[in-house]
Amino acid sequence: MLAWFDEHGRRDLPWQTERTPYRVWVSEVMLQQTQVTTVVPYFERFVGRFPDVRSLANAELDEVLHLWTGLGYYARGRNLHAAARQLVAAAPPDNEVPFPDTLEALTALPGIGRSTAGAILSIAFAKPVPILDANVKRVLCRFHGVTGPPAERATETALWSFAEEHTPADRPGDYTQAIMDFGATHCRRTAPACGACPVHERCTALANGMQEQLPASPPRRDRPARAVRAFVLIDPDGACLLEQRDATGVWGGLWSPVERPFDKDVRSFVREWNIDVERSAAPPPFRHSFTHFHLDVTPHYLWVRARPSATGDERFAWYRPNDGREIGLSGVARRLLAGLDLDLDLAHPSGGAIPGKSK
Ligand code: SF4
Repeated sequence: MLAWFDEHGRRDLPWQTERTPYRVWVSEVMLQQTQVTTVVPYFERFVGRFPDVRSLANAELDEVLHLWTGLGYYARGRNLHAAARQLVAAAPPDNEVPFPDTLEALTALPGIGRSTAGAILSIAFAKPVPILDANVKRVLCRFHGVTGPPAERATETALWSFAEEHTPADRPGDYTQAIMDFGATHCRRTAPACGACPVHERCTALANGMQEQLPASPPRRDRPARAVRAFVLIDPDGACLLEQRDATGVWGGLWSPVERPFDKDVRSFVREWNIDVERSAAPPPFRHSFTHFHLDVTPHYLWVRARPSATGDERFAWYRPNDGREIGLSGVARRLLAGLDLDLDLAHPSGGAIPGKSK
């Protein structure tokens, strides 16, 4: 694997050229669930703004989530921020913040599991500690012919043993990057490059023609669907009303137009909020899918003559997409705001930037 890495592996990624524990940590958290090519620009913006633990801890959560907007799985950004604050709180004031270098200390921080801790320890501290991300699971399942779904506990335990067995005392950081990279670019999910594989002679999946079947998929479960209405209020200056989510949940701390259960219809919403509506639009509903459920969103754009008094509360904000204010937006919020060409609509009140817009 090391020989393969020396010849074919990616070694010029931004977190590889300057291997500090902080940069490895940020990159590993971003790489959970997200591909390298997507992560690179987010990583560069993030460490450009927050170059070390202390600057991240000093930031407002909104700034962090703003830089995370579009990357998804926002709990990762919230956990990074919370962990940075924990590290700074435990450090002497104004000194460099020591970064934990044990499995126990790292996994005690929010958002760092055993695999992410293994990546930090091996890459940043050269300790022979294994990792087991999705790419590594795929390689090990195929190489050892493991047929159980990796999400099952017994399979995962077996995979950790293999991972531990393979991690070398010499160059553990390079090995970690090698096997992750090998899984991502060579032993790919579909069409693995077995012909040019450096371990093909010992690969159980190849010997049995099972490369495409492994790793085994977990039993399929239908995702439930939830229906909501999204009310996009637009004031006479073109600012949109956003509401901040509670700290927990998939979009905890993010901002989005007011979302209510589907049975809250427009008429009762307008009456309850005492809104003076100048005009409205109702584009077609759309679906936003999460790992565990679908969200069916029915949008309602409401141009109001005055800001409703209920929105004076601090969990509300009036937001103009182009004014440079840095806040984290949920995926649905970005989609709803993108559907609204504010300048056109404000300059030309009869304009039709939104499909289905009605007077
Ligand atoms: S032979 Fe194919 S399936 Fe086996 S490890 Fe190599 S690339 Fe993966």
